[in-house]
Amino acid sequence: MEINAIPSRIALVAHDNMKDELLDWARYNREVLAGHQLYATGTTGRVLEEHLQLPIIKLQSGPLGGDQQIGAKIAEGDIDLLIFFWDPLSPHPHDPDVKALLRMAVVWNIPTACNRASADFIISSPLMTNGYRRRLPDFESYRNRLETTLADLS
Ligand code: PGA
Repeated sequence: MEINAIPSRIALVAHDNMKDELLDWARYNREVLAGHQLYATGTTGRVLEEHLQLPIIKLQSGPLGGDQQIGAKIAEGDIDLLIFFWDPLSPHPHDPDVKALLRMAVVWNIPTACNRASADFIISSPLMTNGYRRRLPDFESYRNRLETTLADLS
């Protein structure tokens, strides 16, 4: 199955040491971002909203569950693109959530940028304006294992 859509719902997350970098990147790309529905974890969202003067749907702060909320939105099909500037040099109390979010992005084939160069490549791609047929992995056989499990138990 494929989703044929311009990546219109973008999630933005930056760890504290990376917020300057994300803000600088977002300022540079403000006009493109303005054409999309933006989501962010709490503090990242507040920083971006204040400096970009763009509406942003703000979730919980990352350590309070914001990363997990974005992961849930990915699983529900509500996010098309993830920009996640995580900090590789500092420990975080919500490391498991960071890993979980990145895992959801891979499971659901979400284009993901974890650093500025990757974010530059993604946002300047013609696919951002021409649309992109994102393939959804076929999880049918995985879902059907329930039938097998039930049959084995009976
Ligand atoms: P924050 O969360 O935007 O609330 O700082 C980001 C994170 O730490 O994952």
